[in-house]
Amino acid sequence: MSASGLLRVARRTPWIAGAIVIAAVTGAAPGAAPYVQVLGIAQDVGIPQAGCRKACCTRGRREMVASLALADPASGRWWLFDATPDFPEQLAAMQPASGCTLAGVFLTHAHIGHYLGLVHFGREVMGAHGVPVWAMPRMRAFLETNGPWDQLVRLHNIELRPLAADSSIDLGGGLHVTPFRVPHRDEYSETVGFRIASRTRAAIFVPDIDKWERWDRSIESAVAGVDVAWLDGTFHDAAELPGRNLSEIPHPLIVESVERFRVLPAGERSKIRFIHFNHTNAAARPGSRERRALERAGFRVAKAGERVPF
Ligand SMILES: [Zn+2]
Ligand SMILES: [Zn+2]
Ligand SMILES: [Zn+2]
Repeated sequence: MSASGLLRVARRTPWIAGAIVIAAVTGAAPGAAPYVQVLGIAQDVGIPQAGCRKACCTRGRREMVASLALADPASGRWWLFDATPDFPEQLAAMQPASGCTLAGVFLTHAHIGHYLGLVHFGREVMGAHGVPVWAMPRMRAFLETNGPWDQLVRLHNIELRPLAADSSIDLGGGLHVTPFRVPHRDEYSETVGFRIASRTRAAIFVPDIDKWERWDRSIESAVAGVDVAWLDGTFHDAAELPGRNLSEIPHPLIVESVERFRVLPAGERSKIRFIHFNHTNAAARPGSRERRALERAGFRVAKAGERVPF
């Protein structure tokens, strides 16, 4: 498609941010406070998981893949944290209801649940133009040198923007996003979590991390510095995946996290909202024994659709 063709497509799809479309933003609500909205809570592939014949996936339960949106109604823009395989539904959940236009994407890492949604910006789908995609150096190189992602770059459907660990991106309106490195299986890219801050509030989003002890930082300090902490809750306990070696897919088990954070004051514990649930994780099911125990201990579980004022 020619450049002018792309331009025409971009004009036909005013929900895509880009230099052209940003100017045409409507529906902004000056003065309205920013917010973070949870767009999904499941591990990389969502629930149900392909091939699973157990009750966790055969009783009609549906959970989209873990992702957050930061919306700034005053400027009419929103930003996506991880482009998941459920991106079409997640985009539909944000637009047009939010009155905001997608202004960019922040990527944590190159595991399938966290970037596959980028394909929808391509010529076969939205034919987007210049959607900013912030990514760390290895993540950027991965997208630039592997199909079909390299085509998104070449056709300028997306515009890769650099992220550096512990260096903030200023989104305007007092909003800042800061990536920080976390230990994880980094086959294709490094892995980051994000600190999202407004003038008055802050949150962290850490959907994937190895054990807390393997991090060179204190998770407790990170939680102390924010109002909300969306943390890796992939597995509840080691009995969840019989026959699989959990050391190959290390995550802080929820039972371990609860044990570690139990000593924190109630105010700190209540900031923690587990997210990125594997289909087998009973804590993700409302009313389960595991969920009730978690809530009794003062923790929360993220919920798709919930909004946190920022
Ligand atoms: Zn993941
Ligand atoms: Zn299942
Ligand atoms: Zn991962």
